[in-house]
Amino acid sequence: MKEIILAKCGELVLKGLNRMSFEKTLIKNIKQALSPLGEFDVAIMQSTIYIDKDGGIENIDAAFERVKRVFGIAALCKAAVCQKNMADIKKTALLYFLKSLGTAKTFKVMSKRSDKRFEYNSPQICAQVGSYILKNVENISVDVHNPDVTVTVEVRDFAAYVHCDNEQGAGGMPYGSSGKACLLLSGGIDSPVAGYMMAKRGLLLSAVHFYSPPYTGELAKQKVVSLAKRLSDYCPGMELYNVRFTEIQEQIKKNCKDDLFTVIMRRFMVRLADEIAFRSHANALITGESLGQVASQTLSALNITDELSRHIVLRPLIGMDKEEIVAVSRKIDTFDISVLPYEDCCTVFTPRHPKTRPSLEEIIIEENKLDIEKLVNNALDTVTVVQI
Ligand code: ATP
Ligand code: MG
Repeated sequence: MKEIILAKCGELVLKGLNRMSFEKTLIKNIKQALSPLGEFDVAIMQSTIYIDKDGGIENIDAAFERVKRVFGIAALCKAAVCQKNMADIKKTALLYFLKSLGTAKTFKVMSKRSDKRFEYNSPQICAQVGSYILKNVENISVDVHNPDVTVTVEVRDFAAYVHCDNEQGAGGMPYGSSGKACLLLSGGIDSPVAGYMMAKRGLLLSAVHFYSPPYTGELAKQKVVSLAKRLSDYCPGMELYNVRFTEIQEQIKKNCKDDLFTVIMRRFMVRLADEIAFRSHANALITGESLGQVASQTLSALNITDELSRHIVLRPLIGMDKEEIVAVSRKIDTFDISVLPYEDCCTVFTPRHPKTRPSLEEIIIEENKLDIEKLVNNALDTVTVVQI
């Protein structure tokens, strides 16, 4: 029995004239996700994606898991291919049903017939396949309202397909179809989730990480690489820019008011990330900030950090509770890495009583005690790039 993967395009089906370019990106992304398993044939016809391989897909479960992480796909299933005649459809449906049976006791058959020339209509196909299964499998009955397994028969132009239940796809828009953005990636729970959410909307990601040796160690840096690698299941080919942040933090600590430390530090992060975004042709910054979560995430603090950026700052978590963010981080498997206990540069020198409503004027007075340009340029000189 030959199996392929059938998938349904997500939101991109709503696109008009430019739909082809979204489909092209999606096909490229699926092929790339599958490339460790060989070269696959991927085609889209009428919003259905056909994923096949010359000589058959040897490891279909592994291929399926990979396609499940490709953005732009609403749903997917493994499907058995059969000839377009009732005998072969029935035989294949029975074999496939037995394979997917598990502990199921009830089933129903559904049918879609896009080739209207086929000699039986959908109700006839359902009736024939259903009675064939009933005749050949013991202890099984039909339940049209709440079946344990639904067997779907699709009669299309070139072949017929039999499959059981669809699984949910990754959703969103094809990765890279919305432009490029630079993610400020810490070792925490929030920023990987923020990156995932924007990648899901089609943004190609690069990441910037600030580290502060000797206050933060090699393990903290490694942790961020591991997080970026996890994200790369969804966002392949990411570049991670590491920026040494020690001098900036020490200079702020030494020269500026303690209760403004965090906001001034965050303004340096924005200056640096903004420049890296500019140089790497990204059009937005992404952070994992959520309103009110900490002192630097109040409206006034956010306004004060935003005003420095030439690019829009996207904060997909702004309206989410921590619990909701954690649920996503578990789903994308970054949670276990995020909770490893290595210090992030953000927590180094954190003031005990940060000001929650700083004014821009007082910040600027403090910043003028520093040689901002020199600090920024020194930090930019330390940038190293890791190709994930
Ligand atoms: P996270 O869990 O993502 O670390 P957080 O709740 O700890 O977030 P903050 O430490 O205030 O919040 O950081 C807010 C955002 O600033 C982060 O989500 C991230 O986008 C960015 N950020 C913080 N620290 C770093 C860092 N060391 N390198 C790069 N970006 C950082
Ligand atoms: Mg953090």
